[in-house]
Amino acid sequence: MEDCLFCKIVAGNIPCYKVYEDERTLAFLDINPINKGHTLVIPKVHVSKISELSDDGLVAFFRALQKVTRAVEGSVRLDGLNLFVNQGEVAGQVVPHFHCHISPRLKGDGLRMWIPSLKLSEEEFVDTMVKIKMALKD
Ligand code: AMP
Ligand code: ZN
Repeated sequence: MEDCLFCKIVAGNIPCYKVYEDERTLAFLDINPINKGHTLVIPKVHVSKISELSDDGLVAFFRALQKVTRAVEGSVRLDGLNLFVNQGEVAGQVVPHFHCHISPRLKGDGLRMWIPSLKLSEEEFVDTMVKIKMALKD
């Protein structure tokens, strides 16, 4: 994708603080880190969301994600971490190339990712569960 920032990084046209690369995956430091060690893992192929990754691509991606997560855990000070994907503008996805954040967390860093607020009735829970289960059968 010509206009995609992360495709340009994959192509080597924009520099990055690369920490890992294999045939299908790239990992580099986020330039606006939440904490030190904040890393982005991306598939080299341009997809905007997880559902567009092939089976092989998915396996390669999650293998690399685990590998890089271990390396982050072993190299920077952290008390925990968040692994997260923003998918779609409304969810905060700024770069439309699928990526997972590895975001080290420190006690007292003050970050609150989300506040659970929605109250659902029993009927709404069941309805939602059934809809997702049905979609899994497709
Ligand atoms: P998202 O909101 O999930 O799309 O996250 C995009 C992330 O990419 C943000 O956390 C940015 O700080 C990060 N980012 C943007 N440009 C670059 C860049 N050139 N190198 C590294 N990270 C970047
Ligand atoms: Zn891209």
